[in-house]
Amino acid sequence: MIQTSPEEILRKHWGYDSFRPLQRDIIDSVLAGRDTIGLLPTGGGKSVTFQVPAMLLPGITVVVTPLISLMKDQVDNLNAVGIRAVYLHSGLTLRETNLALDRCRLRKARLLYISPEKLQSPSFADTIRLFDISLIVVDEAHCISQWGYDFRPSYLRIASLRQMFPKVPVLALTASATPEVLDDIAARLSMDNPAVFRRSFTRDNISYIVRDTDYKEGKIVDILSKVPGTAIVYVRSRRRTRELADMLLREGVSASFYHAGLLPEEKQERQNAWKSGEIRVIVATNAFGMGIDKPDVRLVIHCDIPPSLEEYYQEAGRAGRDGLPAFAVLLTCRHDKATLSRRLSEAFPEKDTIRRIYELTCNFLDIAVGEGYNKVFEFNISLFCTRFGYHPRVVAPALRLLSQAGYIDYSDEVTTRSRVMVLMQRHELYDLELPDTADRVLQALLRTSTGIFADYEIISEPLLARHLAISEQTVYENMLLLTRMHVLHYIPRQTSPYILFTTSREEPKHLLFPRAVYEDQRRRMQLRIDAVRRFAFGHDGCRVNTMLRYFGENPTSPCGKCDICRADRKNTSHNGDATLRQRAIALASQPGGITVDSLAEALRLPAATAVATIRQLVDEGLLTPRDTAFHADFNTKTPH
Ligand code: ADP
Ligand code: MG
Repeated sequence: MIQTSPEEILRKHWGYDSFRPLQRDIIDSVLAGRDTIGLLPTGGGKSVTFQVPAMLLPGITVVVTPLISLMKDQVDNLNAVGIRAVYLHSGLTLRETNLALDRCRLRKARLLYISPEKLQSPSFADTIRLFDISLIVVDEAHCISQWGYDFRPSYLRIASLRQMFPKVPVLALTASATPEVLDDIAARLSMDNPAVFRRSFTRDNISYIVRDTDYKEGKIVDILSKVPGTAIVYVRSRRRTRELADMLLREGVSASFYHAGLLPEEKQERQNAWKSGEIRVIVATNAFGMGIDKPDVRLVIHCDIPPSLEEYYQEAGRAGRDGLPAFAVLLTCRHDKATLSRRLSEAFPEKDTIRRIYELTCNFLDIAVGEGYNKVFEFNISLFCTRFGYHPRVVAPALRLLSQAGYIDYSDEVTTRSRVMVLMQRHELYDLELPDTADRVLQALLRTSTGIFADYEIISEPLLARHLAISEQTVYENMLLLTRMHVLHYIPRQTSPYILFTTSREEPKHLLFPRAVYEDQRRRMQLRIDAVRRFAFGHDGCRVNTMLRYFGENPTSPCGKCDICRADRKNTSHNGDATLRQRAIALASQPGGITVDSLAEALRLPAATAVATIRQLVDEGLLTPRDTAFHADFNTKTPH
């Protein structure tokens, strides 16, 4: 039998000619059966590193991912390029779940995407135990680490998957991890001497700029007038996205806004308009970006100070994917240091407040003490807040900490989309007597989705309504009617977050918050905030280097492009002694390099001046400390 190569698979299914840096290394490592960690920037092409092996390995590739809202899209994209994949998460009905599991059993799926909370269910574990699994992939693997910025307790359950299949290699993928998060990933997944592939966090074409201003709106308009091309403006509140977009429109800038609370149709519409260049600026919360891949973004502005450099790096990194010059601008103001501190205290309410919120939540959901285990409840947080007089800024962190302490699993991820599957055979539909409107709705459905007899298809009620010139409510009612008649099965979209009880209701006084969940996490958040502070307000020199050091790299020269490097260059070109600098560079480029002593001697200078000159040139990236003599000299000699 002729073995297909990874390149052929890539070409055949995706039409790409070659792998990007590290993709092939990760694939080889996985195919060799090694536990592997891949650290590639967002948009770096992590998916291909497991999708290609999935096509070459004999059994199923299981992919754990936290992004329920993207699962369906990913699976659809795979199906579109001829790769069979299915997905499972707790928001699916029993019928949908069984459909997916049957496909795995019948070997009609190469990839099985699951959300981590699925692993909680014993029946699910019993089912997949029998599958022939070749590879376990953990996407967004930083979610497994309590030290990471996006820890999700449900991710800890992936360890059980590992135990079930001790011989199957694990591939962990993430875009951002500090060295300790990386260690933690390997430990949590009991990885066996993993191969680690990482790309430097350097993005040579992006200039990172920090601007301090007390009038951010004006500054945004000003920057947009100077940097042409597509832009993203990130803010932290949904309301602000609309306000800023309106402001930009008034200023004559083509803009729109985006946040998680929009209808899926609206999101799609705005994404498309922005991607096609019809809209120049999108003002968005951090909900914008996942799965969005536009190469020619010239500018990303952060209007509010970000909570971590991990998140900042990811969001700013959406600029300049095409490799051409781009800008990442962070706007700060004098209140921002206080803002950072306030966020810390808000994220960790008093333990008694958390206990109280737990108790009220159970009452609100009608769960008696000792009950609730493994049950899922919709949770209307704004109703909860109005009823009990709490602010969501307190309730959401409390629920998050309760999740991390293992009492509940709170998910505030927004809205599954409406789905429909036709249950009758096509010929049965002809004999059906239906009311006129119901018939029109059904016909419209059949026309729009061809796969609707075999699987659940995502539908849009507003689009159907517009198409049929009836109200959305009428569409909804007729869908329910058709469901009652067993013509089809309609699952309306859900807009509410949910809570899964991972233990039965406890007495509040018995709720424990271990150090690892509360004090340690608080300290970690403090460290992340400190790093943001250093980046935005610090005096450590080059911004990029501050960031790279945070991610565990050892940069040797400044980026030359950030605002600090630019300012430095301006200063030196005014103050520096040009002749001295040129002679130093000439000497250094001779074979054998240069030592401080030889420089001082050749130029007849005091050592202090020689050191200062070299340091300056190295900082500007004009000199690279090449030979070790230079290195040692430079690092150890103190000027006198
Ligand atoms: P990540 O998960 O790392 O953020 P994705 O896997 O979503 O990135 O890939 C980002 C984009 O890059 C996708 O559009 C993907 O099709 C594309 N891509 C991946 N690998 C290659 C390749 N070898 N050549 C060209 N494009 C690629
Ligand atoms: Mg990805």
